[in-house]
Amino acid sequence: MHEVDMTKCLLLSMNDWKRQHAPRQPRVSTVHLQVGAFTCVEPDQLVFTWEAAVQGSWLAGARLAIEPVPLVGRCVLCASTYAPLQEQAYRSPCCDHPMEEIVSGRELRIRSVEYALDDPPAIATPSTPACAPCA
Ligand SMILES: [Zn+2]
Repeated sequence: MHEVDMTKCLLLSMNDWKRQHAPRQPRVSTVHLQVGAFTCVEPDQLVFTWEAAVQGSWLAGARLAIEPVPLVGRCVLCASTYAPLQEQAYRSPCCDHPMEEIVSGRELRIRSVEYALDDPPAIATPSTPACAPCA
């Protein structure tokens, strides 16, 4: 269910982004998303919920490309960075200190959007009344 909420957040962000282009219409082909390893988001599941959510919307056909970001911790005792392992309770291998600082791995952000801008939808201009010949 986590992924469903994430998808809703993504769609809200994308709607805000779309408004910045008004009145032109962005046609999105790919949304590049950074997903940290420490976010508990399952990438496959997120793509699945995304594809279901955008059907029939202005984002229909837009692909969600996920760029995984590894979990990196920094030891607060010796300042070295390391890849925390769940099996070691995320403790630093250098000093065996509990993980207190996360350098990366909590990202969940839109990195870039591939799109084309369509012209604004034609607005029906009121036809100018034909000048009546002066009688
Ligand atoms: Zn250390």
